[in-house]
Amino acid sequence: MNSPIWHPFTQHGLGEPIPLVTRAEGAVLHTADGQRIVDAISSWWVTTHGHGHPRIVAAIAEQAQRLDQIIFAGWTHEPAEEVARGLLDIMPVELTRVFFSDSGSTSVEVALKMALGYWLHRGEPRHRLLVMEHSYHGDTIGTMSVGARGAFNAAYEPLLFDVETLPFPAAGAEQATLDALEAACRARPAALIVEPLVLGAGGMLFYPPRVLAEMRAICARAGVLFIADEVMTGWGRTGTLLACEQAGVVPDILCLSKGLTGGAVPLAVTMASEAIFQAHWSQDRATMFFHSSSYTANPIACAAAAANLAIWREEPVLERVADLSRRQRTRLDALAGMPGIHNPRALGTIAAMEIGGGGGAYLSALGPTLMAHFREHDLLVRPLGNTVYVMPPYCIGDDDLDRVYAAIGEAAERFGRSVKELRDR
Ligand SMILES: *Cc1c(COP(=O)(O)O)cnc(C)c1O
Repeated sequence: MNSPIWHPFTQHGLGEPIPLVTRAEGAVLHTADGQRIVDAISSWWVTTHGHGHPRIVAAIAEQAQRLDQIIFAGWTHEPAEEVARGLLDIMPVELTRVFFSDSGSTSVEVALKMALGYWLHRGEPRHRLLVMEHSYHGDTIGTMSVGARGAFNAAYEPLLFDVETLPFPAAGAEQATLDALEAACRARPAALIVEPLVLGAGGMLFYPPRVLAEMRAICARAGVLFIADEVMTGWGRTGTLLACEQAGVVPDILCLSKGLTGGAVPLAVTMASEAIFQAHWSQDRATMFFHSSSYTANPIACAAAAANLAIWREEPVLERVADLSRRQRTRLDALAGMPGIHNPRALGTIAAMEIGGGGGAYLSALGPTLMAHFREHDLLVRPLGNTVYVMPPYCIGDDDLDRVYAAIGEAAERFGRSVKELRDR
């Protein structure tokens, strides 16, 4: 197709097909040429309940007719107020303030700016940030700076600011992470930012709640702010509303996006503790929080988020999550013995494994082969290199889930030799 569009994370020079999607419902996408595709990755981790949830669709339609957009600096509207109240009802009580923005990356940028503002306005400026190895927090300059360095951002490296990186708490090496954090906290950094329990783009790497709880405790003792980026893990993905819940921790600053609107339209929030808000509170205009974007708290997006919150209150979402978790695990267990499958793992609705050799690598030679394989099977599965994961909308049917796992099994059989062997052929 001759299109002027420059797609994200797409190498146009490879000439890979770019399907034209015309319609979606539940866990299924329909294309212009009549294909029925199972969306096994929730359209890149955003769709929670399913595409086109009737309550979210209706809320968007109704709001678009009433109030489409309004400046949010010094003005407000009912959908935003409703979302803020609804969040306070279900999120940890310590998080008393809601700052709106429009993407996960922006919610993280806002979190970082809040953390630095907090220290500055307390008269104790701090700017060092602690991060975890293999992290991903977005693709803007600030979020790339606090994320893993690699092929994705090598071109911009000179612009990225310095951070202190803690080793990933791999099984058996957890203490090294905690020791590194303890040591790093002595230099009085502003904050630690983490993806709780699951590092998504870093390769669906899991670490235990105990480590998250320990990290939080170390930060609390040292007086270092603790930022949880739940942009991917929030809204039931890991089995609970927030991943932090499983460790019994509450961050000082919480980033939410993706599933905030059920995945229908873009919106994000950064929630903050009262102390962070109060540090910016003053009669002096110079200490206001200097952040905004044109579409901050867009009413249509807020109406979708309000509908999502109502769904969480009124529908058995956590039961659906638990049910999907069981269905994923049964199918993953059935694959686990296959020779081509390495390190099968699951947490909540997320299942992941490496194909053809342990240790994922984003630019693995196997990546494009796997991607083509799933495409041929009418599945939206987008491996991170040779790491294949399944993270479907919670409403996915058994037959569709079976198709996903059958295709993964077939991929393991066809391509499950070691990556090295494949390269040497
Ligand atoms: C997707 C993601 C982001 C970035 O969100 P965008 O909406 O794509 O900007 C940030 N953090 C985590 C953990 C994510 O998974």
